[in-house]
Formats: sequence, structure tokens, C-alpha cells
Amino acid sequence: MSMNLVTLLYLVASVCFIQALKGLSHPTTSIRGNIFGMTGMAIAVLTTIALIHGQARSLNVDFGTGIAYVLAAVVVGGGLGAFMANKVEMTKMPELVAFMHSMIGLAAVFIGVAAVAEPWAFGITAAPVAALIGANTPDGAVILDGFVRYAIPAGNRLELFLGAAIGAITFSGSVIAFGKLSGKYKFRLFQGAPVQFSGQHMLNLVLGLATVGLGLVFVFTESWPAFFAMLALAFVMGVLIIIPIGGADMPVVVSMLNSYSGWAAAGIGFSLNNAMLIVAGSLVGSSGAILSYIMCKAMNRSFFNVILGGFGGEAATTGGAAKEQRPVKTGSADDAAFVLGNAETVVIVPGYGLAVARAQHAVKELAAKLTEKGITVKYAIHPVAGRMPGHMNVLLAEAEVPYDQVFEMEDINGEFGQADVAIILGANDVVNPAAHTKGSPIYGMPILEAYKAKTVIVNKRSMAAGYAGLDNELFYMDKTMMVFGDAKKVVEDMGKAIE
Ligand code: NDP
Repeated sequence: MSMNLVTLLYLVASVCFIQALKGLSHPTTSIRGNIFGMTGMAIAVLTTIALIHGQARSLNVDFGTGIAYVLAAVVVGGGLGAFMANKVEMTKMPELVAFMHSMIGLAAVFIGVAAVAEPWAFGITAAPVAALIGANTPDGAVILDGFVRYAIPAGNRLELFLGAAIGAITFSGSVIAFGKLSGKYKFRLFQGAPVQFSGQHMLNLVLGLATVGLGLVFVFTESWPAFFAMLALAFVMGVLIIIPIGGADMPVVVSMLNSYSGWAAAGIGFSLNNAMLIVAGSLVGSSGAILSYIMCKAMNRSFFNVILGGFGGEAATTGGAAKEQRPVKTGSADDAAFVLGNAETVVIVPGYGLAVARAQHAVKELAAKLTEKGITVKYAIHPVAGRMPGHMNVLLAEAEVPYDQVFEMEDINGEFGQADVAIILGANDVVNPAAHTKGSPIYGMPILEAYKAKTVIVNKRSMAAGYAGLDNELFYMDKTMMVFGDAKKVVEDMGKAIE
């Protein structure tokens, strides 16, 4: 395949990736976005296989064996990915994403190590030849293990150092994020609470400088020991960067690691002279960075505050339980249905509990019944409600809730004051007025101002705290009615009562 054709196909794949990102920005166009993404990836993989074929021929290497490895990897990796994506529950999606980022990071490390060990196989240098001595040794070559090896150009060494280091940080950091998000493992580093110790930032700084120092030694001397020592430190740094971050900040961490994995791929793409890897890596790197920025903004926090803050530790320290038992007003699903039936405007606030209960279809039916009665129904979406960015949008889209009823936080917050009822279904942190109280761990985080509605109905199973582990003053307000029970059952009962 000619290089012009390869470049053209890579360009087509890049356009598909850009269209994919554009499509994924809204639920109505997300299926189209996914199709673009899959098409772009298929073009990229097939073109790369054709490229390897050409390179194998020019290097006089057996193409059959190489392609068998590639196809085996595509079948095993693709099969495993399809199986996991099909099987994973919506609430476990962030773990899956963290797991996939760890794989991208590890792939970058493997490619980096392979390219350092056999740069000729990647087209970085000419192939080694059996030892020549003295005057016959070509310029810029070293003799190693009885072979004349050509030195990797300094520029490539820098790219390999950056790609492999970022890949290693992404891998170990994503593994810790995976453990923290799944909450299943007893291992201390996998707990939601931040792991902090004195001198931590100093240690990170020293390790960071040592990693860069060893990387530069590799860049200037092509020293293998320096490269591997640098990699080892990068793996440790990935762990140390993520452990002081609490569970509540995991959304930002996941998108930050997404960004890292993209930059790692782009760095390796430079070394391999592969434009596709550079473009795809840069798209992932920059979109992840932009998403992290948007999320930090949504929490009214700086990126450095998230990385250095150790925020969100309450979740584990309180074990998710409310600290004090204070009286609250409770009601049944029938009572809540009565209040809803007499309202003119109702704002529904979905949260993580709605996803756990898989109550989205029941909510849609309840909303349809209210609308039939002439009641205006709107859904209020918080950017970090649930356990992944866009979680609530995905849930509501799955239930085919009309998009014109779904409002983002900044668009709906002004309307709570006029709403007759705000009904909170399995949400907690995203409506916690503690965000307005100085000294609270979530101080400054923008919330859905449901407390401003004339009446507030809260459905959850108990008085347990949400992800950030904080008590919620909203539950104790005079105008609040707590309706305890699983969201699906409660919402279905409300629907029946309204009929
Ligand atoms: P929260 O985790 O704050 O609260 C969810 C509430 O749902 C709990 O208090 C729980 O109370 C209730 N609940 C659980 N199961 C059910 C059920 N079956 N039926 C009814 N209620 C149920 O959720 P929010 O959506 O308000 O906030 C999300 C939090 O997660 C934020 O702190 C955010 O930072 C964090 N986060 C967000 C991510 C993202 O990307 N969106 C990723 C990771 C974390 P009870 O047990 O009493 O029923």
C-alpha cells in the first residue's frame, strides 16, 4: 500500500474520530457518534495492518507470523472488550472506563519497551548487523552482544521516554482508580478514603524529579538501566498521585487518566512515526483534559486542588452512614402521589440511587401520568450525579424520556423557586445545601437547588449518606417529606396511586 493511500485513509479515520466526539456530545446524536467511532477505528486498524505488511516485506521479515499475532490480539482484545461492555451494569461503567485506561497505559509501556529493545523493528533505526569492527563500524553505531546497533535518535528517545512514562503513570493510576470506584476490595489503597501521610507532596515532587532525571539520562545516553528505573518510578508515581484523592473526586480523576492515556499514545505515535496514533492520542488527550476542566469548574475547584486536596474522604470514614439520628417527616408513596397530583410544576432530580434501582422506566411512566393531568414535569441533571459523567443523561435516554423535558443544572436552578414540588430520586450529594457552608468538604460545589422548591419529596432507602459521606440538611427541612424504599418500587407505587 502506498504511503499516500495510508495517509489518506488515516485522514478519513481522523475525520471519523472527530465526528464521533461531536456526535457523543448529545444523546440524540450519540448513536451516530458511536458508528463514526467504530468506522474510524476499523479503518485505522486495517490500514495499520496493511502498513505492517509493507514494512515486513521491506525488512524481509515473515509477515504471516506478525499478522497472526496482530489478529490474535484483535480477536482476544476485541472479544473481551465486547463481552465486558455488554455485561457491565450502567452503575459499573466508570470502573470499566478506568480499567480500559489502564490497558491503554500498559500498551504504551509495552510498545515503549519493545521500541527501545528493538528499534529497528519499528523502523526507528536500521536493522542490526553481525559485528563489524574498527573502521568498518558505521557512524552512529554501537556494538552490543556481537551486533552493530544503530543509536536511537535523541528525538525518538525523548518521545519514547515521555510515552512510556505517561503510560506507566496511567496504568498504575487507573488500577488504583478502578479499585476505589469498585469499592469491593479490602486493600487499603483501593478504599474511597484518601491515603495521606506527612511529606507526601514532597515525596511526589522528589519522585517526579527523579523520573524526569532518569528519563533525561536515557535521552542523552540511551542507557537501558536508566530507562527501566525511570519506568519503575513512573509506576510508583501513578499510585502515589491517585491514592490521596478521595472517592468523591474520582470523576475528575477518571477523565484526567483518560487524558493521560491519550498523551501516552500520542507520544508513542511520534516515535513510531504513526500519524494515526498521534491524531487519535491527541484527540483523547485534549478531550479528556477539557472534560477534567469542565468537571473541576462544575465543582468550583481548581485542578490542583483536586490533585493535592485529598477531598472526599468522609465516604469511607463514615462508612456511608449518617452520623446522627434526627427526626424527619416521612410519608408513603400514596402521600407523595397526592402531593404530586396537586402540583402545577414538578422537577424530578435523579441520582445514583435511581440507577441502582433501575427505576428510569418507572419514572418516565410516572412523569407521563403527571403530564397527562396537565402538570409540567422537568428533569434536573447535575453534571456529577451518578457515578460517571453523563450518567443521568444516559439513563433517561435509555428510558426514552423526551429531551425537551431534560435540563442541565445551570438552566434549571433558576426554576426551583417557582416549582411546587422537587422530587429527589436516589440523589443526595448533588442536592446537599452543605455545599453553601464554609468548612464543609463539598463547600463551593454547585448543587441543584432543590431546597428552594415549595415542597420537597426525597426517596431513598434509609438516612444513609451519599458518596461524599455527608449528612444532608435538606432531609430535615420542614417542607421535606422522606419516602423510604427502593426507588423503583416507590415510583411504581406513586404511579399507581396517581392513576
Ligand atoms: P449519592 O451517591 O450522593 O447518593 C445516592 C443516594 O441514593 C444514597 O444516599 C442512597 O441512599 C440512595 N440509594 C441507593 N440505592 C437506592 C435505591 N435502590 N433506591 C433509592 N435510593 C437509593 O448520589 P448523587 O447522584 O447525588 O451524587 C453523586 C456522587 O457520586 C457525587 O458525590 C459525585 O462526586 C460522586 N461520583 C460521581 C461520579 C460521576 O462521574 N458522576 C463518579 C464517581 C463518584 P440509601 O442508601 O439510603 O438508599
